[in-house]
Amino acid sequence: MSFRVGFGYDVHRLEKGRKLILGGVEIPSPVGLLGYSDADVIIHAICDSLLGAAGLRDIGFHFPDTDPRYKDSDSKVLLAGVFQLLQKRGWTIVNIDCTLTLESPKVAPYIDTMRQTLAEILHADIGQISVKATTTEGLGLTGRQEGATAYAVALINSGS
Ligand code: MG
Repeated sequence: MSFRVGFGYDVHRLEKGRKLILGGVEIPSPVGLLGYSDADVIIHAICDSLLGAAGLRDIGFHFPDTDPRYKDSDSKVLLAGVFQLLQKRGWTIVNIDCTLTLESPKVAPYIDTMRQTLAEILHADIGQISVKATTTEGLGLTGRQEGATAYAVALINSGS
């Protein structure tokens, strides 16, 4: 049995009038994340943690923002693509842990829906997928409400 760990990090800017989509879930908010895709910072960090664990480069390598196919794309589709890349190479997911930094709105009521949404895409149990959220106490880009960041680690294994 072979175990590998991976790390992912992402940042997106907050803008008025954009949808706020986090962990595949749309959250009511006057501001949302700006990006070439739907800018789901949680899913992007998770994608990079999984790709990193498998030694498969990063999300920008597989889904470049110069490719019109990925304009305004649903990040859930990108995550499903990452899952397929790992599955083809015989990797299974042990667990994922992710932390979002966002000042406002509060996302606590949506965490379990995010976990369930992510677990379904990754053919995993909700217990294998952790999503946490914190503010940064008014400090930095998160505190100034300029954007949101997400960090993720993933453990994968192959063999039996
Ligand atoms: Mg991103």
